[in-house]
Amino acid sequence: MTIRTFSNALTILLFCCLFAACGQSTGSCVSPSGVTLQVLGSGGPIADDSRASSAYLVWIDGNARVLIDAGGGSFLRFGEAGARFEDLEFVGLSHFHTDHSADFPALLKSGNFSNRERPLPIAGPDGDGVFPGLKKFLAAMLHRNDGAYAYLSGFLDGTGGTPMLTSKEVAIGDAVILWSGDNLTIDGMQVPHGIVPAVAFRVRAGDTTIVFGSDQNGSDPAFVEFAKDASILVMHMVVPEDVSGVGRRLHAPPSVIGEIAGQAKPGRLVLSHFMARSLEDLQGNLALVRKGYAGDVTVAEDLACVTP
Ligand SMILES: [Zn+2]
Repeated sequence: MTIRTFSNALTILLFCCLFAACGQSTGSCVSPSGVTLQVLGSGGPIADDSRASSAYLVWIDGNARVLIDAGGGSFLRFGEAGARFEDLEFVGLSHFHTDHSADFPALLKSGNFSNRERPLPIAGPDGDGVFPGLKKFLAAMLHRNDGAYAYLSGFLDGTGGTPMLTSKEVAIGDAVILWSGDNLTIDGMQVPHGIVPAVAFRVRAGDTTIVFGSDQNGSDPAFVEFAKDASILVMHMVVPEDVSGVGRRLHAPPSVIGEIAGQAKPGRLVLSHFMARSLEDLQGNLALVRKGYAGDVTVAEDLACVTP
């Protein structure tokens, strides 16, 4: 690291502490007890910001039990976080944009070297138009006959002692329970993200609830109910306030994120999914968010640990 890059990194760190609550630390989230959100990837689809694309872990009592999204770069961050494939109870892929799903096959292959035998539950959206549903996405990668990674087909059919992926698709409509057991419940609902079927996930572990809003334009009031009183709400702040056209149909501007958080009243709001261009006026965008939401705000960084 050059002196200039070090100085830039220090400036960014100080900036984050000045303008966002510092309820996070970068490094290991392994703690013998409690629930912690770890950001694996705080970036978006452009490789210009030294951030991995979207991915998050939920650590429970020292184990990484839940993985939400597996965008590009999350393979590396997963290892850096000290997470283990065999500890995962659930994987949620919010949608099939590459910045939310492209590293999933790489993580599967890594998991092939673990001692896991039990199935791995996975959930994602159903399909629409050019966007596949979860089952078609998995088949396109893993099918024994014509999958791009047919050599990993055991994950689809359970052959060769490989842990099978047990998949559930989330359709438009009410929230549905996707996994339940052992003091952990996960449900999901579709959220509006242009023409792309996308799913928000809610992870309830003991007294802690973490809601992952995914990419969405913020137009569905049902999401506010879904996120109500969460301990932590993760929202993707991708576009500027004056966004229009396709960008607006895909994403909520900062003021809308603030309104959603203001109504849902989470204990902490985590803003994520940045690119260099969406960090240009971070301070201004944070001010717009704070107009609607007066609670604690964390600006996500890769590998940051966020506690309720
Ligand atoms: Zn997206």
